[in-house]
Amino acid sequence: QADPRKIKQILYNLLSNAIKFTPASGKVTVAATAADEALRIIVHDSGIGIAKELQHKIFGAFYQVQSASNREYPGTGLGLALTKKLVEMHGGTIEFDSETGQGTTFTVEMPLRPGPSKRNRVLVVEDNPSNLDLARMVLEGNGFAVDTASNGTEGLEKARHLQPDLILMDMQLPGVDGLTVTRQLKADPTTAKIKVVALTANALKGSEEQALAAGCSGYIAKPIELKKFMLQVTNFLEKE
Ligand code: MN
Repeated sequence: QADPRKIKQILYNLLSNAIKFTPASGKVTVAATAADEALRIIVHDSGIGIAKELQHKIFGAFYQVQSASNREYPGTGLGLALTKKLVEMHGGTIEFDSETGQGTTFTVEMPLRPGPSKRNRVLVVEDNPSNLDLARMVLEGNGFAVDTASNGTEGLEKARHLQPDLILMDMQLPGVDGLTVTRQLKADPTTAKIKVVALTANALKGSEEQALAAGCSGYIAKPIELKKFMLQVTNFLEKE
């Protein structure tokens, strides 16, 4: 999970520096690995290097390896200070190893976090077409992948087949009702781990307790309140 523009800027700064301070006959390499829950980017060059006595200065603003009056290596001197800032904004670290005349190696490490790259898949089991459309519209509008079923049997089949992250289960369904479907899902090891949230009619006393007893993680009362709906869905997805 990262800001793509800032990651690009980090790479651009490190690579353009490496190229700037490396003669045409030299070599610049970039490598990246993802291991131990960290992303590691290594930019190595065989360039002029950074003298030991100057190494403590290079992340300071406006520092240039050569003075600004020397036009051999033009630049603002902000590149590495900014790069360090951008890396730290991602909870990461930047280090380097350098030897005059031998070259420089920069190592960036950033924690890998699960991000929104994986879209959550929600199965909505609901026989009322307008409720179904409403739920689908709101969920899709918030980036979820949505599947629907309009009766219990179809819901059960789709749950097994699609393995959604969350099921919104209407309790009043034609044929096999929501409580029965939920019990069947919870009794089947291939679907037992899928979170089920009951869609319950406000008026029906006791239906919430029944839903929880059947294995639902919680319930959302109908009619669906749009303002609360996405927050409720997200909370259920994050809940252990
Ligand atoms: Mn219904």
